[in-house]
Formats: sequence, C-alpha cells, structure tokens
Amino acid sequence: MSDKNQDQRSDSFQGIEDSYLAEVYAKRPITLVKGEGVNVWDAHGNKYLDLVTGHGVAILGHSHPKFVEKIQEQISKMITCPGIFYNDKRAKLGEKIAEITPSNLDKTFLSNSGTESVEAAIKLARKATGKTEIIALKKGFHGRTLGALSVSWTRKYREPFKPLVSGVKHASAGDIEAIKENYTKDTAAIIVEPIQGEGGVIIHPKGYLRELREFCDEKEILLVFDEVQSGMGRTGKMFAFEHSKTHPDIMCLAKGLAGGIPIGATISSNEIFSHLKKGEHSSTFGGNPLACSGALATIDIIENEKLLENASKVGDYFMKELSQFLELPSVIDVRGMGLMIALQTKQRISDYVRSALDKGLLVLTSGLATMRILPPLILLKENVDETIDILKGILE
Ligand SMILES: *Cc1c(COP(=O)(O)O)cnc(C)c1O
Repeated sequence: MSDKNQDQRSDSFQGIEDSYLAEVYAKRPITLVKGEGVNVWDAHGNKYLDLVTGHGVAILGHSHPKFVEKIQEQISKMITCPGIFYNDKRAKLGEKIAEITPSNLDKTFLSNSGTESVEAAIKLARKATGKTEIIALKKGFHGRTLGALSVSWTRKYREPFKPLVSGVKHASAGDIEAIKENYTKDTAAIIVEPIQGEGGVIIHPKGYLRELREFCDEKEILLVFDEVQSGMGRTGKMFAFEHSKTHPDIMCLAKGLAGGIPIGATISSNEIFSHLKKGEHSSTFGGNPLACSGALATIDIIENEKLLENASKVGDYFMKELSQFLELPSVIDVRGMGLMIALQTKQRISDYVRSALDKGLLVLTSGLATMRILPPLILLKENVDETIDILKGILE
C-alpha cells in the first residue's frame, strides 16, 4: 500500500471516541471497521496487514469462515447460560481443554479475560495451600485488576494504585537463585509467563522452567504458568511450556482461546480445585455458551488446519528473514518463538511503528525500543515477505 497522509485516515469517529470513551489508550490514528484473514480495513477503505491481531487475540485471522459459521449457529441458539445450570457447549469445552492439556490439568474455571484468569489462579493458590505469598518475575505482566496488577511488574501500571495486594515478591527472571532468595514459609505459588510477552518477548534460559518445577515440588508450592499470550499455538506448540518438557499446577489462558470472543480460563487439577468450595468464586458471564462455542471452534480449526505446524514453519521463516536486519546499525536484537516475535532497535520504537502504519503494516510495541509482532497463526510466507519489505524501508 502506498503512503497515506493523515487526511486520508482521520474521520469523525475518532473525535467521538476521544470525547465519550475513557482516554486510557495511546491511540493510533485509524478507525478499523472490517477484518478478513490477515487484513483489516479502516473507515476510508485503506487496507492494512494486521500483525497486532488485538494483542494476539485473533489467532485464526479475522472472520474465519468456519469460525463465523459456528458462532452464528450458537448466537441463534443460546448466548447466555449461568453457571448454576449445565450447558452442552460448556461441558464440551471443559472436556476438550482437559484433552489438550497435560494429564494433571483436568479441571477448568471459565471467566472472560486474562486478568480474571490470573485473579482466579491467585485465589485458588492461596486457598489450596493455605499460604498467602506469591513470587512473580521482574518484567512480568499478568493484567490490570488489583490482584493481577500486584503480580505484574511495570512501575507505571502499579504506582498510581497502591496499596496493592500484599505478599507479592518480584524476582529477576531467568535466575533460579533469585526465586530461592524470595521464598519464605508463607510462599503459596510462583507465577511466570513461559515467554514474557508484554515485557518484550523474553525467552527464559534453557532449563529455567524445569528448575522452577523442581523447586516447587521440593517446597510443595504451586507453579502457575500464565499462557494468556503465549498459549493457543502462538509459539508453534499449543502451550509455550511444552518446549521445555515441564508442566504447571495451574495454567491461565485467555487472548486467543476463543478466537476473539472474550474468555478466560484457569486450569488446574481436581485435587487443587477441590479446595475451592461452592460459592467461593464465580463469574456472571464466565462459561457462557457463545464464548465456549468460540473456543471449541478455535481449537477445532487449529487442529484441522494444522495451525501449530504453520506457526512453527512460518515463524522460523520470519525469524530467518528478520535476522538480516541485525546488520543494520538501527537494530539491536531480533528474537522470538513461532509467531511471537520481537525486534529491538536503538532509537525509540514509536517512530518506526508509526512509519509502518503509514505503509499499511500494523505492529505492537513493548516498552520504548521493542517492536512486538503477534500475527495470526494463518500467516503465509508471502505475508512475511511483504512485512520484511516494509520494515526494510523503515529501518534502513
Ligand atoms: C494480556 C495479558 C494478560 C491480561 O489479559 P486481559 O485480557 O487484558 O485482562 C495477562 N497475562 C498475560 C501474559 C497477558 O499477555
């Protein structure tokens, strides 16, 4: 796509949003109105290659025909059904999640977002162990509600809202000794992202997740993996921890799980969940038939269309192509796994991200100097080639 100036992108919706919606987002100046596959369109009909996918939510791309069909079918049947009644789609999803996760993870609590899946994990860990402290990692991100915010790291997100939940300690990522230093007899759990997403696609040193597992077993505390961003095939395996031949006691999922329909899931064992009694946790919208059928359709499409293999193959190609930029003086690092990718620059990243948008490419940032790329799992090599062409023009 050729460069567009601001007049060709601004419209009245932008002023209306700024007037009537809480201005908590640093906005990009386009109004997205339609999506299909790897592309989205703004209100003027300009087309973009979408490597943001709602922060990794639209893992099937936009408006996947089979997904749309399943959702439409469910909408015309039933959208809401509270947890006090049984539901066919919810039952099937519970069973399916148990099937695609390690054998110790056989029970699920359903909610509506990543932060809720973390809240449930924290409550569950406290209740199951009878202890209160949580060890989280520096550079970690787990959400914005007060409990999840307490285990998140970024100062700017935390400081204005103190006091937060007490008993949280942040250890340096990738260092088992730092975990040991923060452990006390009151530690209930360790929560980590198997790959730190918001922190800048930080991949832990080899063996680290297994060391965490061993430490938790030794001390009889719970290991929580927050796979909200890294899960559902993003790294080329269904869950990022599978690359490390280990497993959590509690896993959090959300983002891609229902292909764009809001959902959160906190998954653990029967034994751990047995400590949570009736009435001790719940969610009005959680486990609704629409979200459940969205998740069932998403998992089905990932399996039938071999999207794990595609994410792995196209991800490798993407990394190989990106690595040519390491020769440029403007680029410091490229890293990633599957289709969870980052490019770190010397200069502020926001200028590059803005130039990319002008050329029809949507990407994310992590911090001040990292570009984060979270494409849909249906990405093709030709989409990578298009991306590399645009980035080349910007970075050189
Ligand atoms: C996005 C994210 C969350 C929060 O999810 P929301 O749906 O925005 O509440 C939690 N953990 C991780 C790892 C995330 O990437």
